[in-house]
Amino acid sequence: MPHYHIWTIGCQMNKAESERLAARFEELGYSATKNIGEADLVVLNSCVVRQSAEDRVINKLHALRRLKKEKPDTVMAVTGCFVDSRIDGLFHSYPFIDHFFKAGGNPPWLEETGELAMPRRPAPSVYVNISQGCDNFCSYCIVPFRRGRERSRPVEEIVCEVGELVKRGAKEVVLLGQNVDSYGRDLSGKPGLADLLKILNGIGGLERLRFLTNHPKDMSGKLIGAIAGLDRVCEQINLPVQAGSDVVLKAMKRGYTVADYRRLVRQIREGVPGIAISTDIIVGFPGETDALFRETLDLLSEIKFATVHVAAYSPRPGTAAARELADDVPPDVKKARLAEIERLQEGVQGEMNSGLRGETVEILVEGRKRGRWYGRTRTDKPVFFSSDRDHYGKLVNIRIDNTTAWSLQGKITQELGEER
Ligand code: SAM
Ligand code: SF4
Repeated sequence: MPHYHIWTIGCQMNKAESERLAARFEELGYSATKNIGEADLVVLNSCVVRQSAEDRVINKLHALRRLKKEKPDTVMAVTGCFVDSRIDGLFHSYPFIDHFFKAGGNPPWLEETGELAMPRRPAPSVYVNISQGCDNFCSYCIVPFRRGRERSRPVEEIVCEVGELVKRGAKEVVLLGQNVDSYGRDLSGKPGLADLLKILNGIGGLERLRFLTNHPKDMSGKLIGAIAGLDRVCEQINLPVQAGSDVVLKAMKRGYTVADYRRLVRQIREGVPGIAISTDIIVGFPGETDALFRETLDLLSEIKFATVHVAAYSPRPGTAAARELADDVPPDVKKARLAEIERLQEGVQGEMNSGLRGETVEILVEGRKRGRWYGRTRTDKPVFFSSDRDHYGKLVNIRIDNTTAWSLQGKITQELGEER
């Protein structure tokens, strides 16, 4: 039996696309291998959102060059955001690669094969893309250049895919788009995310719905109402603020102020009590002084996010920031700022999680990690518990008896059956 190997880095969208490719390869009779040397077909699903990611991709390409020398029959393909529109140039630089294809696209040798591929036995939690590309052009971001303008998938297509995944065993669906708040603007009738959620919420057997990423300039009251009113939609939201200073936000071209963001957070928390809000931060953006950075720290202390993904600014070729603004924050300052945010956030999360001790939470069991069962709460917190029984793919109640800043541990009190 021939083998395939997919190497994926980057965002959830890449993970979703790799799952789709894997399903297609399985349909064609390939089986997965972790050992790249054994594979007949290798796909690199790449990310270039920061230079560090691009460096990893280039290292992997060097490894593939060596592999191709040893095993010239291995078919090699590259997709993801490394692939820009100058594919001829890529073939010139990496002649040992057989195919380059755009992020979200189909491998050229499979272009003609009809229906959307789906895993035969999906994981309990699966990603489903609802749109491709982005129209926002935040000044630091390479995504719109590599993934193109925003295109929404039709409602019926998404409903059909989710229905089928649930029939095959999925319990939780995470809808993905670079800006889920602008979903549907390009479709006839302009359905929004709230409308889509309402339909998906009615699919029997689907226990949980999540979505990311929201954009603070576009998130609507209607969506907040949908989170509050639809029982399958989890109390969790990803709302990247990127910086806590208006000067920096303006230079980033994010389209909102810190006051707008605060107002939105208040509205969300009033509408959906107990909701977990997570965010993304970039430190060391051009022009970020110590004082401006303090404003970000102050905002984080005030809002108390459930999680924060923090990254050091990395100039990306072709973006407005790389063209127009000097990368003037030294690397060691960026590193120190990143560490300071992580320290602050560890304190916030540690305190927040310790408040859950003694509480009972519902988790969806996704598998085993280091000898224990693992799942997440509706608010997306990782939970571990021990049990000799098989709880894979089940919703269970856990009474929390121990917490850290990063996870919760507890004892199972109940497995929730189909009667829900
Ligand atoms: N669409 C989402 C949004 O608006 O936040 C996420 C897109 S981006 C692929 C994911 C995260 O990468 C961003 O939230 C940002 O924090 C980070 N990022 C993007 N470009 C970056 C850059 N040039 N340097 C450092 N971090 C960057
Ligand atoms: Fe990039 Fe901004 Fe679009 Fe997110 S919203 S993908 S950060 S351009």
